Amino acid sequence: MSEETELYFVQLAVGEMQNLAYLIGSHSTRECLLVDPAWSVDGLLDRAEADGMKVVGALATHYHQDHIGGSVFGMDIEGIPRLLERHPVPVHVNAHEGDGTLQVSGASESDIVRHAAGDEISVGRVSVRLLHTPGHTPGSQCFLVEDGVGPGRLVAGDTLFLDSCGRVDLPGANPEDMYRSLNETLKALPDETIVYPGHIYGDPSDTLGAQKQTNPFLRVTSLEQFLSFMGR
Ligand SMILES: [Zn+2]
Repeated sequence: MSEETELYFVQLAVGEMQNLAYLIGSHSTRECLLVDPAWSVDGLLDRAEADGMKVVGALATHYHQDHIGGSVFGMDIEGIPRLLERHPVPVHVNAHEGDGTLQVSGASESDIVRHAAGDEISVGRVSVRLLHTPGHTPGSQCFLVEDGVGPGRLVAGDTLFLDSCGRVDLPGANPEDMYRSLNETLKALPDETIVYPGHIYGDPSDTLGAQKQTNPFLRVTSLEQFLSFMGR
């Protein structure tokens, strides 16, 4: 019997804005999902292939160019179109993103699957639960990855950073939603959950329990305090 664990989980730094992409899958079925296909889509697909994993879908944390591809700050960031060109798979987004994903990335309606809060995608015995965490964008989502053995892993996109959180001053952002996503949805998860952010600003991961102690955006005690902290 193999000692190999069921969960296949790879964190990869990509691009010029300190983004982190993820490969999440099952060692038993050799299938994986690609989280936030941007910057170096070929590099991400090549890594999966080198690991003997078949990419069966992509997950988008939210519709910003540095996570799904598109043009921003004078840069053309490759993303979903390159993925679909080389290896067509369904792209899973939250329904509340509206047409943002299509407008930003240039993808077509037939390329995306729109999800409701709490939907689950399984690869082998690994489950990925789609948590709707609006605030940074209307349809931002975090992914709770569980293999039934180790602690849950939270792939947090631009909602929760280590000791920080995503911006709420961009179009489509909503500070009150961010407060609820952080202090209701995410804070309700067990302390042993490991947080994997969408950008690397220091450490690559931390436990949610430690973040509840040190992250000022999780330490606030009221919406009013959160908003004043945000300069509102
Ligand atoms: Zn973003």
